[in-house]
Amino acid sequence: MSFTVAIVGRPNVGKSTLFNRLAGRRLALVDDQPGLTRDRREAETEIGTCEVTLVDTAGLEPGDTGLTARMREQTEAAIAQADLVLFLIDARAGVIASDEIFAELVRSSGKPVVLAANKCEGRAAEAGLYEAFALGLGEPLPISAEHGLGIGDVSVAIEDAC
Ligand code: GDP
Ligand code: MG
Repeated sequence: MSFTVAIVGRPNVGKSTLFNRLAGRRLALVDDQPGLTRDRREAETEIGTCEVTLVDTAGLEPGDTGLTARMREQTEAAIAQADLVLFLIDARAGVIASDEIFAELVRSSGKPVVLAANKCEGRAAEAGLYEAFALGLGEPLPISAEHGLGIGDVSVAIEDAC
């Protein structure tokens, strides 16, 4: 079994963008599974010397029925399976109520967590980056998944935990 890293956070913070960045060209998608986990994506990848199973979560669209309940269940299942949780917020939006809900799921799991504040490519993210400290999940790593900034720091944090 390789080291499993689940990327967790509310919709739209950039989880799938970060997943694609980290998986890169070594991306090998596992078939979608039926039912609860049908929206989940997994990739086997190497981060430094560590063999990692990367799990993307909650690829759900607004308007899906039972959205909140299903997202929650899917996220809880991914956290339970993970050796490390990579928790993501959108620093431009700041920390909002649903970030707190997802953060509480992570905290109550007791799993090791790396906190990353995404969309930090511009000054609009400064306030949100500081708000992220208050989540109680450690020091946030400023990143931009879309622009490829801070990805090395995320990789190092994963390697350190692996
Ligand atoms: P997910 O719902 O958490 O998987 O989020 P996505 O990866 O689908 O990204 C949601 C939106 O945020 C998309 O429009 C992305 O292009 C955008 N996005 C992702 N990363 C960044 C980033 O680093 N900076 C900015 N400005 N936008 C981003
Ligand atoms: Mg997604």
